[in-house]
Amino acid sequence: MKTHYEILIIGGGTGGIMTAGQLLKEDPKADIAIIEPAHTHYYQPAWTLVGAGTYDFKKTAKSMASVMPKGVEWIKDYANGLNPAMNSVSTRSSGTITYDYLVVAPGLIMDPSMIEGLSEAFEQGVACSNYMDPEHTWEVIRNFKGGNAVFTQPTTPIKCGGAPQKIAYLAADYFKKKKMSDKVNVIFATPGSVIFGVKPIRETLMRVIERYDIHFRPFYAPFRIDIKEKIIHFNHTASEENRCIVNEDNAINEIMGGEADISIPFDMLHIAPPQRAPDFIRDSILSNEAGWMEVDIHSMQHKKYKNVFGLGDVAALPTAKTGAAVRKQVPVVVENLIKLRKGEVADNADYHGYSSCPLVTGYGKMVLAEFNYNGEFTPDPKLKRMLIFNSAKEHWRLWYLKKYLLPKLYWTKMMKGKRV
Ligand SMILES: Cc1cc2nc3c(=O)[nH]c(=O)nc-3n(C[C@H](O)[C@H](O)[C@H](O)COP(=O)(O)OP(=O)(O)OC[C@H]3O[C@@H](n4cnc5c(N)ncnc54)[C@H](O)[C@@H]3O)c2cc1C
Repeated sequence: MKTHYEILIIGGGTGGIMTAGQLLKEDPKADIAIIEPAHTHYYQPAWTLVGAGTYDFKKTAKSMASVMPKGVEWIKDYANGLNPAMNSVSTRSSGTITYDYLVVAPGLIMDPSMIEGLSEAFEQGVACSNYMDPEHTWEVIRNFKGGNAVFTQPTTPIKCGGAPQKIAYLAADYFKKKKMSDKVNVIFATPGSVIFGVKPIRETLMRVIERYDIHFRPFYAPFRIDIKEKIIHFNHTASEENRCIVNEDNAINEIMGGEADISIPFDMLHIAPPQRAPDFIRDSILSNEAGWMEVDIHSMQHKKYKNVFGLGDVAALPTAKTGAAVRKQVPVVVENLIKLRKGEVADNADYHGYSSCPLVTGYGKMVLAEFNYNGEFTPDPKLKRMLIFNSAKEHWRLWYLKKYLLPKLYWTKMMKGKRV
């Protein structure tokens, strides 16, 4: 095996495969290797639908070999150390590999240990999560007999920030269809202060919450799960003056304990686990204080090591971590790499924080949040071609986009190096 490549990519997920594919379209002879240990590549955005029983999990997976672009050397290994001063990456069992240019895209990792009792709750099936095992979520939802159905998320950044609430809407819709609404309390508790940061989307979502009679709890940061008693504990994170709005809710047996400790008993619990950058990123000099990969937020280039780029979930960018964001980041990285290879300056700074969140609000309904670093609503003009004139409103055509068109776009275009 070679030990030096012109372009070395860490991670064969959405970001890594797209970058390699687009680079090869520009230069089919480019000398590229991808370090990637997994044998399966997942289309994770469909996991929300899997968790609601409306998408086959098997269709979200393809073999890594089938998405690996032809002409790329696949190093089936884990990167476990970065030494940008020496232009090298160490691996678990393939030794040290050197590069001219490095693209870092290993995604993020789930860390349930950051919430007391969560690892055990997952192990014992007491909690479910679309982030870990969406088929289990569906099993829990369809076998639910009534009581408190709690949906929540951690205080850390997470990928697809909307996913924890999407499954709450789908579950609420499912319970409604099964005529269980009077036996079920759906509770959505989030550390955030609002349901969604983008105003027109927020307004629609608040109406959705009302429609399903969801108990919405902002400022709720989960910190402990009592598996035996099936109680989840939250810290109330609002300032003192806001705390008086917290009432003990008899309907759901919510109890305000000492200080800011609120506990809610649950009969089902869906939770996004805390998430963080992989250790080898946190331990490297490429990361910021919070452990995420530090890059220029417009060019994706590392500020000190100019031959290093970072993108996707691992990157410290003040926008939502989504595949949709990756779609807009990759062309910027690719163009900058091409410029560097020609001896030019990497001056493409065209990434303005675009991200999107397809918020399914029920079976057959969706709202599409598209936004930028400023939190401005930036709907794609192409939606008009689909006869969608206001994507901040629920629409069946958006559901169709989510369930059928986007997966197709992913496998046949994004994974094939085509710009979309
Ligand atoms: C439940 C859920 C719902 C989502 N919904 C949406 C949605 O609706 N829309 C949307 O746009 N996005 C959604 N996403 C997010 C989207 O899937 C991610 O943002 C996207 O995949 C990020 O791409 P990435 O390349 O950064 O990471 P990934 O695609 O996760 O790829 C990272 C790759 O790096 C590899 N890797 C890890 N460690 C190492 C290592 N040490 N060495 C080498 N390789 C390594 C991994 O095996 C993996 O293949 C969702 C995600 C989840 C979990």
